[in-house]
Amino acid sequence: MRGMATPTLATIERKEGASTSLLSSRVARTLGLSTRTAAALERLGIITVRDLVRHFPYRYDDLRSPVSVAALAGLRNETRGAGSAGEVNALGTVVHCSHVRLRGRIRAKTTATIDDGTGVMTAVWFGRPYLANQLKTGSRVFVRGRIDFTLTGITMNVSRHRVLKADEPYAGELVPVYPQTAGLGSHEIRRFVRAALRMVASDVTAKAGLDPLPKSINKRERFGDAWRALTTIHEPTDEKSAEQARRRLVFEEFFLLAMGAARRRAERSQEPAPDFSAAGGAPAEKEFFEKLGRAVSFELTGAQRRVVDELRADMLKQTPMNRLLQGDVGSGKTAVAIAGMILALQGGYQSAFMAPTEVLAAQQFNKIAGSLSQVGARCALLVGALKRRTRDDILAQLQAGDLDVVVGTHALLTDDVRFAKLGLTIIDEQHRFGVLQRAALRGKAQGFVPHTMVMTATPIPRTLAQTVYADLDVSIIDEMPPGRRAIKTFVRGVEAKPKVLAFVRAEVEKGHQAFVVCPAIDESERALHSAQQQAQELRSSVFSGLQVGLLHGRMSVAQKDEMMRLFADGFMKVLISTTVVEVGVDMPNATVMLVLDAHVFGLAQLHQLRGRVGRGAAQSYCILVAPDAAEAERLQAMAQTNDGFAIAEEDMRLRGSGDLVGTRQHGGNDLRLAHLIRDFPVFVKAKKAAETLVQADPHLTNPENRSLAAYLAAVDSEAMLRQSS
Ligand code: ADP
Ligand code: MG
Repeated sequence: MRGMATPTLATIERKEGASTSLLSSRVARTLGLSTRTAAALERLGIITVRDLVRHFPYRYDDLRSPVSVAALAGLRNETRGAGSAGEVNALGTVVHCSHVRLRGRIRAKTTATIDDGTGVMTAVWFGRPYLANQLKTGSRVFVRGRIDFTLTGITMNVSRHRVLKADEPYAGELVPVYPQTAGLGSHEIRRFVRAALRMVASDVTAKAGLDPLPKSINKRERFGDAWRALTTIHEPTDEKSAEQARRRLVFEEFFLLAMGAARRRAERSQEPAPDFSAAGGAPAEKEFFEKLGRAVSFELTGAQRRVVDELRADMLKQTPMNRLLQGDVGSGKTAVAIAGMILALQGGYQSAFMAPTEVLAAQQFNKIAGSLSQVGARCALLVGALKRRTRDDILAQLQAGDLDVVVGTHALLTDDVRFAKLGLTIIDEQHRFGVLQRAALRGKAQGFVPHTMVMTATPIPRTLAQTVYADLDVSIIDEMPPGRRAIKTFVRGVEAKPKVLAFVRAEVEKGHQAFVVCPAIDESERALHSAQQQAQELRSSVFSGLQVGLLHGRMSVAQKDEMMRLFADGFMKVLISTTVVEVGVDMPNATVMLVLDAHVFGLAQLHQLRGRVGRGAAQSYCILVAPDAAEAERLQAMAQTNDGFAIAEEDMRLRGSGDLVGTRQHGGNDLRLAHLIRDFPVFVKAKKAAETLVQADPHLTNPENRSLAAYLAAVDSEAMLRQSS
């Protein structure tokens, strides 16, 4: 994704030897770590020394101020016997100590009575047999852990401790806690980070290579030294300096993200776009809207109209469009796609429309071909399951320019699919495709770069879209076509399941269809409802006599497509499935979406599932079944709003941005510290700084930007390293 090493950058890289510098080196080799440790670090995304020193703590344990035992005793009344509080610190002398060897995994239990002059408490350790040598009557110890109030007094389950030397004063510190992984704890990571920082400290080039910010920006934002920020975030003396360090590092993250986007944009502006005026003057506006009116039978909503205008303005420019179209399920994205294809047709170019599955491709083809035939466009469907002869025919026509529009699946990507003049590529449900697949489709034009639009129903929060997709222009359809009935959403406890199922049966008997979604495929995840088990059980009970289909991810593509077809055709009345049913299929006759164990899904995902129904005239229902009241509570957000954007923001607040579909795979998304919602104002600033800079000095040849250029080159080469490992 960062593959834009302009000649200038490549030269700098070679000159400064960035690819072999300490920061870019493989951390495992440089620190001499075992392959096991290297693999664990890799799971955390840490490959180079730079990755390691930029692996930031997510909190600090405050070991600075011990609490007196008397004060701890006071907490007991505050919590009114609630039993336990969070972790606390204490400092005292061991007055009694016992070590017991245990059988089994835990092996040892150590109990110490600690007196701090204000009172006594009991400290307990499990599984630390070596403590027998460390902890003696009379030693002074610092302990930290959760406390419990028992009948006999205060007990601490110790998570951290330190035995102090005879008259060593206790200072305490803020201990960084790092994101960890199986087999590699925060404590070890801290050791590696410290070792890496020591190496960097004694390497002038590496130290200088840590700072991406040009002097002018650093000065304007009053950030101070990059090295200091980095060492402070790992070993702060107090919260205030940690917060200051964080401020700089968050800005750095956003700045780099925005630089990547600004450079991709600058590069794109050099690429030639399809020339829509070649067909005899720019496509006339009046003719365009007249054709669009003929192709779609309904009046566009205000939002659709606005997006069509944005699209049209883009496609008449000299540079290729790169646009993300977001619109909730059912908001009418296809009509916008059709508008784009009409414009391409008017300008004398072909269009390609790619969907993630055969069923979706066929469904979209019917809509698109039906509309576009009204304006004389010749359309074809290209999927994997075609007969050889038919396929060859279509390929020949595409290459000869006898077809204007092709709708298809991945089958569009193979080498033998060639176009006479491909002017527009549209990708539906983009998160199902990788970056490379999108590029492959775009690469099918010769001598210029086609306009590209990717469409998604995943309502990525506006803030996120602007950061993660910073190199795309974003259009949003934020209005539903008129006359749509809002889906009614209910959250129910598992005890209501029989009633809910009876309701589903009643809907089916009215002639409708229903989805039942389970989180698991089979019994292997025992605590959860599984699709196979439910299919078996419900077929012979509440759904007996009905056609009940089963769909899950372990079926072959052909089997899945066949099952979707049986449901789409109305043969299957109930479809019991896992979340494979999530994306885009239009089933106007389906009125119920029942989700079992709804609590295991993210809100955004539930919203996607809900979007499978409510596409026809009848009232539709979404019923979320959760095991208990606490889980049901969280799901209430779903019952309260149908607005996908609101739900996505809520989801992001609850779960962080990493889980959102389509963010990780976008590459260059290196936000480790920055929080997309809370730090959004910083993003706005950083983005402006990056854009101004690229505009003034697109190739970063200005001496002031030399170190930034070297930084980007180094990071690019590290990204290469990442791909190869
Ligand atoms: P999605 O954004 O989920 O892809 P579609 O493009 O499939 O949505 O549109 C959903 C349904 O709404 C389709 O049946 C379509 O014909 C209809 N539709 C789209 N736009 C309008 C409109 N402006 N007025 C009335 N119906 C519309
Ligand atoms: Mg769609």
